[in-house]
Amino acid sequence: MGGSGSSGVVSVGVGARVLSLFFYLLCLHSVGIFLFTRGFLLTRTELPLFSSCSDVFDSPCLSADRGAQGMDDKGRKCWTKSAIQRAIIIIIDALRFDFVAHSSNFPGEPQAWMDKLPVLQRLARENRNSARIFKFVADPPTTTLQRLKGLTTGGLPTFVDIGHSFGAPAIVEDNLILQLVRRGKKVRMMGDDTWMQLFPSHFSEAHPFPSFNVKDLHTVDDGVIREIYPALLQSDWSLLIAHFLGVDHVGHIFGVESPLMVEKLEQYNRVIEEVVAVLEKESGPGGLHEGTMLLVMGDHGQTLHGDHGGGTSEEVETALFAMAMQNPPGSLPSNFRAFPCNMAQEEQKPCISTLPQLDFSATMAALLGVAIPFGSVGRVNPELYALAAGTWLSINTSHADEGHDSHTVDWLSAYKDVLCINSWQVKRYLEAYSTSSIGGFPAADLAHVQSLYATVQSLASKPLRQDPSQLTYLDHQFDTLAELDAKKREELVSKVTGLTKVVYGYLNYLDSAADLARAQWTQFGDGWMVLGLSVLVASIVVHAVALSRAMVLPMDWKCRRPNVKFYFALLFVGIHAGSLLSNSYIIGEGQVVCFLLASSGILYLRTSLQGGSNVPKAILFLILNGGMTSIGLVEIFKDPATSGQHTLRNNHFPASYSPTMLISLSATAFATTMLPLSSLAWLIIRRARKVYMYSHSLWWAVTFGVPLAYFLLALHWFTMDLAASVVIVIPQMFKEFARLVCPRLVYSISLGLVGLTASLISTNSTKRGVSVPFGGLLVEAILIVFSGLSGTIILLLGRKGPTIALLAVLEVWCLLDLQGLGSLGPKCPDMDKVASERKLEVNGEVHSESHFAATVDWNLVAVQLFFCTGHRCTFDGLHYTAAFIGFDDFYFYRQGALLAADTFGASHILPVIGLPLLITGAAGMSQKMYSMSDTGYVSLEIAKAYISYGLVRAILATVTTACVALQRRHLMVWGLFAPKYVFDALGLLVIDIFVVIAVVFYFSLRPRTREKI
Ligand SMILES: [Zn+2]
Ligand SMILES: [Zn+2]
Repeated sequence: MGGSGSSGVVSVGVGARVLSLFFYLLCLHSVGIFLFTRGFLLTRTELPLFSSCSDVFDSPCLSADRGAQGMDDKGRKCWTKSAIQRAIIIIIDALRFDFVAHSSNFPGEPQAWMDKLPVLQRLARENRNSARIFKFVADPPTTTLQRLKGLTTGGLPTFVDIGHSFGAPAIVEDNLILQLVRRGKKVRMMGDDTWMQLFPSHFSEAHPFPSFNVKDLHTVDDGVIREIYPALLQSDWSLLIAHFLGVDHVGHIFGVESPLMVEKLEQYNRVIEEVVAVLEKESGPGGLHEGTMLLVMGDHGQTLHGDHGGGTSEEVETALFAMAMQNPPGSLPSNFRAFPCNMAQEEQKPCISTLPQLDFSATMAALLGVAIPFGSVGRVNPELYALAAGTWLSINTSHADEGHDSHTVDWLSAYKDVLCINSWQVKRYLEAYSTSSIGGFPAADLAHVQSLYATVQSLASKPLRQDPSQLTYLDHQFDTLAELDAKKREELVSKVTGLTKVVYGYLNYLDSAADLARAQWTQFGDGWMVLGLSVLVASIVVHAVALSRAMVLPMDWKCRRPNVKFYFALLFVGIHAGSLLSNSYIIGEGQVVCFLLASSGILYLRTSLQGGSNVPKAILFLILNGGMTSIGLVEIFKDPATSGQHTLRNNHFPASYSPTMLISLSATAFATTMLPLSSLAWLIIRRARKVYMYSHSLWWAVTFGVPLAYFLLALHWFTMDLAASVVIVIPQMFKEFARLVCPRLVYSISLGLVGLTASLISTNSTKRGVSVPFGGLLVEAILIVFSGLSGTIILLLGRKGPTIALLAVLEVWCLLDLQGLGSLGPKCPDMDKVASERKLEVNGEVHSESHFAATVDWNLVAVQLFFCTGHRCTFDGLHYTAAFIGFDDFYFYRQGALLAADTFGASHILPVIGLPLLITGAAGMSQKMYSMSDTGYVSLEIAKAYISYGLVRAILATVTTACVALQRRHLMVWGLFAPKYVFDALGLLVIDIFVVIAVVFYFSLRPRTREKI
């Protein structure tokens, strides 16, 4: 190292260059992630086109005279004759298929949550022709907002607007609700307020209840139950939507296996029983509900852990129960049932067919007699359509005297007409979409689908013709056929044969059209993905080049002898990156990282044993790592803060704590909260005294602010616990203070400390004297920011927070001492020689490879923290409840910031802020003060550490991206790989942004007086 003059010059250069490098990398990563996301997350153009009743005359389905008969000017009939007068849709959010279907449909022993809605099974069994249970299959992503959009528009979801799940925008596309409103039919809604976000002004009457607070199991359900019974007795609505959220929330907080789930399902069973009783009472001729159809359905399923969003069968499969109050005169021939029911003859147990959610909108539009939404690509489902008696009564003919079979002919004929309109509508949409959107359909595929339409349309326009090959097949369909005379038989058979053929033709066309749409909108933009991935790979190259160039800057010397630790660090990154290709390793990433960190600890132990120093610390590191693994990864799916409150209702467990239980509970609370918190506070204050304290006001702020923050958060928790236990009556005012004010004070203390650090240090740096060691200032700044933020982050992390925070602090302390960058690995034998040759000061034995090894360990600790604080890379692994600590209301930016602080705070932001500790060392300031006093040297070392760290993160994120691209056809792509990609991409950007902030902040700490020398 040259004189102080040259170091000043270098440090200025380093600052500007490092900052521009990180800014450049941030831009590269953003561009790469944007390009990849564009190709990977699917997009579909939403067309602002709407169906209207008069459109149908453009279709070939109504001849001029039929049109005159079928439609009237008053608009009383639209595209189809309404087959039901009213519909009640009861949505049970996150209703698993096995909640509804009989347990005999599933292998193994019946589970606790099965057969808890027996009313639906009974109704389906007793009313074969008018009631059915369907397996209702959603298209992923299986989030409520996406599903409600899909159910009402009949379109396919786009993955991109999953981001809107927080602040849902109104639906701009044509949809079922809008069609009903346009026809003057009133729609009433109660329950989940997501409906209000989608349809802000469509409902004639709405009773929305807040859906965001997943801890709240009852507000929505109780509200719906209160509103639904009076509504049933009123006649001023055509569609009633009641959306229950309890099952979803119980799943999110307690999981499916919880007894609370059974309790919830039993509650719904009672509600449905009562609703059905009211409907049955009013279903007689002329009754209020004569023409009513009841639908009980889920919007999506959930996994056993209560998650949803992905594409696993547990998540996409939900149930739909439909019952028409009027019995239809006939039953659908089994060849129109979906697999597997088309195979089975009617047996004891009702067969369950599959119904795609895509078809819901078109079928309901046809049943309610409104135009099918413009963008629907679904088809009118024969089984659901046939349940309504209205679909069996043909407009033109009546065969009431000819018995069962002629009803089938009538129904087929009516269904054929509906499918004709349905097919024309889908054809119109496909044409409109391909002309008006940028990424239309591939020409050849579109032409193929359109030719199918042309074929069936020409077939439909021909007169019915007998096909003898169908005769034998039809014989068993029509039991009474033999009793009819030969002429009638021939006539009937030829009719049925012709109709069947046309109907199959239409269904075939509609299926192909839906397949085309699915292929298009679930089609990945491979070009964009390759482009994005290339940009990410390029960023790694930039990183690596920057690192290698930083290493040859004049102040460093090269030691071309990488040690064992370096090779292991490379191996660790390789193992970690490689494991991302496998779905089971992504699930177990927390364990993988803890294992790698333990391996690293064993290497340190080996080095320590060889060197004869630091052995207790190496052992302590291993123990701490074990502690993190066992405490952090247990109960990884459910936050103990929420499952601690096992009260379904406030009065559910009335004063059931015995004194001994209470003592043991408070002892545990003390051990897990007070002990770690006070140790942390003690550590911080002790450390604050030891490090160089430039500013006394900051010292005072830390000494009083941090313990106060910890006290407030402990007060918040204990008051909440006591209030939940109902043992002690807490004054309402104090309870509210502890619940709302305490957390807000903790946030304020954190913000205040960080702000104070920034302002004091920046104003002081201009007046600073010559001999201020930069390294000392750094440690000071990091310590204050850390201790300031710790209150907020521990509060957000919940009850496990204090323990994990203490373990993490101790673990990092051990790690810093163990790697110490100076004592790492064998010394270069010729280092002193090189140093003396170049007349360099000996600052410590840092070489490039140990930087890399140290940052790999640092990264492992960061990733370990992510998983040990109860996070997972899935959308439902987000701790939504953390966003509401201290607040009751939802504001997008405030709650978003809290959620981000909970998700990325401990594992992404703090490690970036604390990274310079690798250079300065947490403990060894006094020994290192000599080297630390050289600003230029420290700046360069910090730059190197950030470049190394950024490189490791960029490699991991790029590998994740590549794995997602490779696995894009994987069954779990939406369940696992896509969320993992989103988390890693977001995480990388968060790290990049905070690296830029940290570099600006730390480099502005450098004493400027030196530069003038
Ligand atoms: Zn839902
Ligand atoms: Zn949910």
